[in-house]
Amino acid sequence: ISLSDPIEEHRICVCVRKRPLNKQEINKKECDVITVPSKCVLLVHEPKQKVDLTKYLETQTFRFDFSFDECASNEMVYRFTARPLVQTIFEGGKATCFAYGQTGSGKTHTMGGDFSGRAQNASKGIYAFASQDVFFLLSQPRYRSQDLEVYVTFFEIYNGKVFDLLNKKAKLRVLEDGKQQVQVVGLQEKQVSCAEDVIRMIEMGSACRTSGQTFANASSSRSHACFQIILRQRGKLVGKFSLVDLAGNERGADTSSADRQTRMEGAEINKSLLALKECIRALGQNKSHTPFRESKLTQVLRDSFIGTNSRTCMVSVCFVIPYPHNGGGETQNQMEIEETE
Ligand code: ADP
Ligand code: MG
Repeated sequence: ISLSDPIEEHRICVCVRKRPLNKQEINKKECDVITVPSKCVLLVHEPKQKVDLTKYLETQTFRFDFSFDECASNEMVYRFTARPLVQTIFEGGKATCFAYGQTGSGKTHTMGGDFSGRAQNASKGIYAFASQDVFFLLSQPRYRSQDLEVYVTFFEIYNGKVFDLLNKKAKLRVLEDGKQQVQVVGLQEKQVSCAEDVIRMIEMGSACRTSGQTFANASSSRSHACFQIILRQRGKLVGKFSLVDLAGNERGADTSSADRQTRMEGAEINKSLLALKECIRALGQNKSHTPFRESKLTQVLRDSFIGTNSRTCMVSVCFVIPYPHNGGGETQNQMEIEETE
């Protein structure tokens, strides 16, 4: 059994997911300006006004490998994004999946799911579905006899510093040795033997990530979280799946903030997202030089950007752009989606 469909040999896949309107947005009667008319297209209808003050919608078209509308479940999104990459780690490769988007657009919901007990049913995200499939593949005759072990790590990169979410947010150092191997010193790799073990780790790390935060100043939206599933054979690394919940890509808002701390964080996030873009581009074009040293995020993920068996997918999440309902006026949050060729 192979999990390789439906994205076959692409090294990079870029998808977009629109989340449903939440209660406040519905109450504020915000207009829904995004539609997903077919499986690879997303349209943004931007309210505009002519000189004679008549209003109209200007529609922009964006193409993706897959686009998901508000009805898509986490499982559906998983199936077309991270799932085809699971096989890669059994073949000695590195797989990476990123969630990218503004704060509040659904990155953590998509990646980590919701085990907080607030949701009626705990909902799994990509971390849990990917782990489940890793154990499924391990149970297949082909792999069962190979002495493979599964480990997970969960860490956060905040302002260029790395913290272990499975070890009380211990601050970790990143070292690059003479052979250009990057090591996160002391990062705890927890061995897991079933999908339920993994869910416990996700819960533990997620709780550690958000503890002591208020929504207004949630450092979790200002940090990248990285959950890794590591496959080893008698101790030796076979493959690694990195699932990354990126820091919110709020545009402009924080680089012009009056608060110095916010500005610094914003600058750091911009730097790391730019470095990530360059590394992904280098991977897509099979370039020999990958500028991974430009940020802590790309440095830590170095081995996922090089090598012949590295595959990446990016899930861009988005939501209604909160235009004032009467049209015109200032747009507060502009969505940044790159049009793919
Ligand atoms: P982010 O991590 O991008 O800041 P979250 O994942 O925390 O955003 O999502 C913000 C809120 O929206 C959360 O309450 C989350 O449960 C909800 N949400 C996000 N995406 C969806 C979705 N596809 N379906 C239902 N609720 C969603
Ligand atoms: Mg989040």
